[in-house]
Amino acid sequence: MYTITKYIEIFEVNEKNYIFNLNNGSLIELDNSTLDKIKLLINNNNVDVLNENEKEVLIDNQFLVSKDFDEKQEQINHFTYNISKYNNNKDSLKIDFALTNKCNFNCPYCFECNNLSRKLEADYLSLVNTGKNLYYYIKKLLQKGIKNVEIVFYGGEPTLEKDFVVDYIKSIDLLCNEYDADFRYVFITNGFLFTEDFSNRLLNSKCKFIQITIDGEKEFHNQRRTNLAKINTFDKIIENVNQLLKNNFYVVIRLNIDKSNFESVLKFVDGLEKFIDLNNKKYLGFDIARVFGNDNSFDLDEFETFREVLTNKLLRKGLIKPRLSCKALTTFCVAESLSNDLVLDYKGNLYRCWNNVFDDKYKINTLQYLINNNLDPLEYSKVTLDFIENLSLENVNSSECFKCKYCKYCQGLCPAIRKSIINGEEKNIYKGGVCKEIIKERIKNEISFIGV
Ligand code: SF4
Ligand code: SF4
Ligand code: SF4
Repeated sequence: MYTITKYIEIFEVNEKNYIFNLNNGSLIELDNSTLDKIKLLINNNNVDVLNENEKEVLIDNQFLVSKDFDEKQEQINHFTYNISKYNNNKDSLKIDFALTNKCNFNCPYCFECNNLSRKLEADYLSLVNTGKNLYYYIKKLLQKGIKNVEIVFYGGEPTLEKDFVVDYIKSIDLLCNEYDADFRYVFITNGFLFTEDFSNRLLNSKCKFIQITIDGEKEFHNQRRTNLAKINTFDKIIENVNQLLKNNFYVVIRLNIDKSNFESVLKFVDGLEKFIDLNNKKYLGFDIARVFGNDNSFDLDEFETFREVLTNKLLRKGLIKPRLSCKALTTFCVAESLSNDLVLDYKGNLYRCWNNVFDDKYKINTLQYLINNNLDPLEYSKVTLDFIENLSLENVNSSECFKCKYCKYCQGLCPAIRKSIINGEEKNIYKGGVCKEIIKERIKNEISFIGV
């Protein structure tokens, strides 16, 4: 017995009708008469309005599902989320490794600004010691069957520890070969010191993904992504992006937007070809992010409007591709899961959310403690409990996210955002279904660039 899935959404985009499956990302364009049948089907659940051919297509794309399956969907959402939350035996491992709390820049919106030391002094001893512990930790997990390891190097500014990181990547690459595992490294950097000389040292490694932030046109960028001496960082960063692309590194340009730089970011994207060599654009990606916590910050829903304008510009220029894939419903990140993944700083301290790194009140333990205790799961600290209980989808938004048909697509917002909403630091977009409208609009917009 079949029934129409609760996860169907009807969209009218550019005078065409579509049905979209929020469970698996299937998209089908419909003529008017088939659309009428679907509407009838949604209202009276009588599949006999469809001919055999139509039924077959809808079954193949899981718009028609067995009655049992659909009734249990909410429990399945809950169950899938919990499995990912408590699974300590995944075959993948992600380490966010803050190599230093130093930075050569002085960005006014830096989320680490209270914790960063502006003095460019190295703390090699701690870093080297933590590096050794991490090597041991990864090796132990490889021996237990981990097959994919991703290390994200960030800080502060990770390129301030160039020598360490080059040697470290070499040693982890060897470990990866020994255990026949896939490794991937990502750098989150301001890009200023990612010179050709440095990237040449990484050429034969598995390090291929670099995220670099640009905050608008030269003048604007130089006002806020620079050092205390206000030097011109824009030209150097652009030079570094181009040499990375030429050497087949994948570069994601992060665009941090707020009310003060939005126009400048738009102009930067408009004239992108003046700066970036687009012959290598297959290695180029973009990430649009919201500057949070200052007077110029966009509200969550305001941001969505501006994100869409910028996204559409990038889509029209062929710099990004439309995406409709629904993620599996998993925990959002390491913050709310009890896997082996780590957020680690160079001193060996562990945290749950990478926004909280270097902040002692969010420290949950140390890597040394984990190693001394045979990598047994850590006891729950207050911070851990907060993320995995108070901020979990069971407990925020009155558990409504599990009932929400957009849940696989949205994953119930990042836990740090959930926290800001609960604390009243962010507009409550759960209220009045604003979050659902945001997701709907996002999907609609992507469809307008895909068509079928
Ligand atoms: S480059 Fe990054 S870490 Fe450095 S001050 Fe700016 S935002 Fe902070
Ligand atoms: S809670 Fe949000 S910001 Fe923190 S690590 Fe998870 S996804 Fe990132
Ligand atoms: S945050 Fe809103 S759109 Fe997302 S899953 Fe929860 S209720 Fe649905």
